[in-house]
Amino acid sequence: MIQGNYFKDNEDLMLQFNSILDWKEIVAAYERGFEDAKTYEKTKDERFANAPADVKSAVEYYESILEATGDLMGTYVAPRSAEMDRVGLKYENGKVTFPKAQEECYSTLRDAGLMPIGISRKNGGLGLPATVQSMICEIAARADAAFCLAFGNVNIVDIVERYGSDELIQEWIPDIAAGKYSAAMALTEPNYGSDLPSVQTKAEKGADGVWRLTGTKRFITHACGYIDAPSIILTLARTGSPTSGARGLSFFLVQGKDVHVAGIEKKLGLHCSPTCEVVFDNSPGQLIGEEGFGLVKYSMGMMNAARITIAAQSVGIAEAAYREAKKYASERIQFGKSIDKIPAVRKMLDRMEREIAGMRMLVLEATRSVDRYVWKKEHLIRHEGKSEKDAKADPEVKLWEKLADLFTPMAKYYASEGCVKIAYDALQIFGGAGYTEEYDVARIYRDARITTIYEGTTQLQVVAAIGGIVSGMAPAGNLREYIQQEMKSISPSAELKRSFDLFSEIAEAYRDLPAGEEKSMLAFETVEAATRLLMGLLMERSLARTPDNAHRKEMCRGVSIDTIATLEGTRARMKLSAVK
Ligand SMILES: Cc1cc2nc3c(=O)[nH]c(=O)nc-3n(C[C@H](O)[C@H](O)[C@H](O)COP(=O)(O)OP(=O)(O)OC[C@H]3O[C@@H](n4cnc5c(N)ncnc54)[C@H](O)[C@@H]3O)c2cc1C
Repeated sequence: MIQGNYFKDNEDLMLQFNSILDWKEIVAAYERGFEDAKTYEKTKDERFANAPADVKSAVEYYESILEATGDLMGTYVAPRSAEMDRVGLKYENGKVTFPKAQEECYSTLRDAGLMPIGISRKNGGLGLPATVQSMICEIAARADAAFCLAFGNVNIVDIVERYGSDELIQEWIPDIAAGKYSAAMALTEPNYGSDLPSVQTKAEKGADGVWRLTGTKRFITHACGYIDAPSIILTLARTGSPTSGARGLSFFLVQGKDVHVAGIEKKLGLHCSPTCEVVFDNSPGQLIGEEGFGLVKYSMGMMNAARITIAAQSVGIAEAAYREAKKYASERIQFGKSIDKIPAVRKMLDRMEREIAGMRMLVLEATRSVDRYVWKKEHLIRHEGKSEKDAKADPEVKLWEKLADLFTPMAKYYASEGCVKIAYDALQIFGGAGYTEEYDVARIYRDARITTIYEGTTQLQVVAAIGGIVSGMAPAGNLREYIQQEMKSISPSAELKRSFDLFSEIAEAYRDLPAGEEKSMLAFETVEAATRLLMGLLMERSLARTPDNAHRKEMCRGVSIDTIATLEGTRARMKLSAVK
């Protein structure tokens, strides 16, 4: 693997950080009047010692964490990645053993204090906005896609911070932040994967007031615990009747010591991430939040955050694939020249580079929308005593929550599909050597494949996005307004205006199709068209913020051409479908 500081050696990520992202907006949304810094001033409570007191120090704080993560991932984890993958995990009598190299990576990360990125400062975490968290996940995934889940999974507990009782939070979150426990989420069952409203693991409250869970969960990442940190498992279980659907599901915290890990999967990739079959047999669980909201509120909230993590993971894997391919192409000589001089190879490399930049912007726009609503909503509920309904009705929360619900599945779908394609092209550039285990690209290719499947398949992301896209493009729809506002803030190119007009036609044509199978089948193309338009818009906005960057201008042109080609094709398909 190419080594270095995976933050500082990444020109596009640095450009995002230094020139493109609007930190004033993100810091204002997350730091909320710099309350943590004020608390530190008053109390000298060490948990808040690093809390920033203004925008400048906030950006410096985020940067220092990204630099430390970039260094650790790029110089410590990346060189151990091949070994972790080759040695893999061992399962015996309910216990999973990890490779030594992985134990070293995990303890180094934990000792560096870089684990609890999604946990608030008051509960022992680093206290970082979603935007910074996603950059960290990207950097970690570039080093090792399987190891990056060490971050992702611990930080799913932010859902407990958001909805759990104060007692539950105090009992668990500080210990999780300190690395005494790892975390897992148990939703999938052998018979229900995408169809989560039907899961059947049962939870019953005994006469002693204790909930007990019975059932089997499948494919549960890290349910066995992680190295020496036992797991706590956030579990979706049925408190209603077997046919009570989504409303009969509740959410529980179950300790790993109270379940049986019946086995781990032998997988195509992610060899160092244990994927467990978990048997609950009257296992005690603590209810999180209210009964009946297990899927619609808590699991969905957790999954939305996890989807962004996987989208960021996809960008990181794609970045690793691109860099390895670029290096190889500059060294491999055929027909008397390095293969990166051959147009067919150059074309693949150029496309990879601009797609990664586009994917990254989609992810960062999704995190921007999350940062714009989630912390304010939490503040209104927890500190201003507003009901969930009233908090959701706040105009800023309402707009950005809707956009986040749209941009999250769009980013997850597009970045993961892009990651698979980029890993495919990277391996192609290596030719036969890519098909051997001699080079890292084979592992990267295997690891990439999961991203379109877990945290909801691509098809389920399309289901999640299509309704919001069509209604959002109505005359006063929020997506149309968002796009128009963003276009107004720059001087859009003729190509971007054309993309917007084409997409408006596509959205209208899709809306007018009669309900039925054909319409469902065209949902993918409609979501793809919307996502490409968004990517084109973000690329032009980024160019407006870096006007002298000739290379970005060239990438922007490439994105425009790809986007218009996709949109023209989709419009033609829609027209033909409408005629039939
Ligand atoms: C390595 C790994 C780690 C995982 N980690 C976790 C974890 O930590 N916790 C957890 O709970 N789960 C986890 N999962 C499970 C994962 O989230 C599911 O595999 C995924 O949601 C798909 O469910 P499924 O495998 O049952 O496929 P199915 O639901 O059977 O889907 C099969 C195919 O049908 C399509 N399909 C199904 N329904 C629809 C629909 N309505 N519209 C369009 N297409 C549809 C799907 O897109 C897919 O192509 C993990 C899986 C893997 C492989």
